Amino acid sequence: MGKGILERLRDGIVLGDGGYIIELERRGYVIAGAFTPELAVTHPDAVREMHREFLSAGAEVLQVMAFYGSREKLATVGKGDRTFEINRAATRLAREVAGDKALVAGDLSATWKWADTPSARSLVAGMFDEQIEAQEGVDFFIGETFWHFGEALLCLERIKAKSKVPAMITVAFRGSLMTDDGATAADCAKRLSVAGAEIVGTNCMRDPERMYPVVEAMRQATDGFLAAQPVAFRCSDEVPWFTGTPAFPDKLDPTQLTRFEMADFARKAKAMGVNYIGSCCGSIATHVREMARALGRYQESQVWKPDPKKPMSETEFNWERRQAKKPAGKGRKK
Ligand SMILES: [Zn+2]
Repeated sequence: MGKGILERLRDGIVLGDGGYIIELERRGYVIAGAFTPELAVTHPDAVREMHREFLSAGAEVLQVMAFYGSREKLATVGKGDRTFEINRAATRLAREVAGDKALVAGDLSATWKWADTPSARSLVAGMFDEQIEAQEGVDFFIGETFWHFGEALLCLERIKAKSKVPAMITVAFRGSLMTDDGATAADCAKRLSVAGAEIVGTNCMRDPERMYPVVEAMRQATDGFLAAQPVAFRCSDEVPWFTGTPAFPDKLDPTQLTRFEMADFARKAKAMGVNYIGSCCGSIATHVREMARALGRYQESQVWKPDPKKPMSETEFNWERRQAKKPAGKGRKK
């Protein structure tokens, strides 16, 4: 048996994977807007390929591609009755690719049915339970992209009730540094830790720049393991979350951050005391690879092998740059 997530975090930083659903929409397998994971049964190869890419880029954890995989959310694309099957298939795909090279994290996310009422609570709890059961065998669970603290807390309670593996719960902040039900970043970190989450943190919605204030507040609020997984789409102080921009959902391409900007995030997150450093929507294998290198996890298995100590722009491309600067006729190739 290899080391579990908590042992690895005690030994040092753990590098997560990137974002699946937005990239899989770009590749043509996911419905924009719905962003549901039925492709785990309809196009399993597309999921396998993304897992492979993240693994070879250096990710130490592969997240089950079950984002928005709750029964009511899948019902919006007519796949509610296949919820269990989709979650189970997604879990098997992650495990198959991870082998003994990476941990597999189960995935639970916002259900869009949360309200602080007994009936909503019971509906949402039942949906989490179904997904937790279908994702049996994962190394730990990640409950993510919650913009209601109450839903995040309920997710944690269900993981603790239904499984024996560690729980990582990450909250998403959109326009303000408060959840929609009025919890600050510090409240979230503190209360989720007290409630038993082994790892707490924030993911999605914000780019690294707009996520740092959340990370800082959470780091001060808890001594436990902290996770940060920002999006790789540029936001602004005016609209600090990517789904609030006119580029969302299908004009995001020109807003994508470079791999080096995500590498800068990895370095800064490390300096800020983040233990689980990953990324979310818009972060693909190139970003994870550069983050791995920034954290000293250069992957020898890569097909393309630049000088591990220098970014590509300082090595392979220098020759072309020098050539470009030479005036015509002075040894410049035509
Ligand atoms: Zn995301």
